[in-house]
Amino acid sequence: MKTAVVTGAARGIGLATTKQFLDQGWRVVMIDRDAPELEKAATPLKDVDSVICDVSQPGQVDQMAAYLAESCASIDALVNNAGVADFGPLAETDFSRWRTVMETNLDGVFLMSQALRDKLCTAKGAIVNIASISGLRASTLRVAYGTSKAAVKHLTQQQAVELGEYGVRANCVCPGPVATKLAMAVHSPQIIAAYHDAIPLNRYGTEDEIAAVITFLCSDKASYVTGQIIAADGGFEATGIGLP
Ligand code: NAD
Repeated sequence: MKTAVVTGAARGIGLATTKQFLDQGWRVVMIDRDAPELEKAATPLKDVDSVICDVSQPGQVDQMAAYLAESCASIDALVNNAGVADFGPLAETDFSRWRTVMETNLDGVFLMSQALRDKLCTAKGAIVNIASISGLRASTLRVAYGTSKAAVKHLTQQQAVELGEYGVRANCVCPGPVATKLAMAVHSPQIIAAYHDAIPLNRYGTEDEIAAVITFLCSDKASYVTGQIIAADGGFEATGIGLP
């Protein structure tokens, strides 16, 4: 049985991804820093392990990796999905807000990938990093969030180039808007309406639609796909319209 490690697995896109892996016969290690939510999500599921870990904290990541080194025969996929959102312009984003976003969205991807690198190389595994359409296009509102996600895109390509010789593939998924807790905390009614107008499919995506792309990229069906930045956004990127 193949094992996937999914961060931010307690809800939203991470939980949907976990369930699709399970449906496809994988075992999943669910990682999240929100202990009650993680327990609630993991309890009804079979073939999962859950580990409370803040992916932005090097000490916690090291501890988690040491546990996985013992408990997992192999790690065949790593989905770096944990993320936080913060919509604000340069003038209003103080350094502490900036760091909070970078610590989870960028440092977390770096730390997790480094900690599980050897296991992924041994398994010739796959990495999928979750960025955003906010990392594809600059906007007036997303100085920290957009920059963190643009960096995740580049980190993905670094991983693909560096780890290709070990048979590890790395790809990046850039979701359009999905009505999760993260998005609904920062999407005003005006932003929601503007997205509906601008997106060619005229709607938000669902957690399952993003999870389907993620699990495909981790599967053997994507065995020759690496280093790619893939928007799952209802066609928004193709319009050239600015982010609301
Ligand atoms: P969500 O808030 O529903 O879920 C995020 C999960 O990550 C939560 O369970 C949270 O506890 C966990 N988490 C946050 N920081 C963590 C940390 N430091 N360590 C461990 N766990 C942590 O959000 P979501 O919408 O499902 O977002 C998942 C990913 O998709 C994020 O990277 C987000 O930036 C990205 N994304 C979301 C949207 C959207 O519209 N929802 C669009 C583009 C990209």
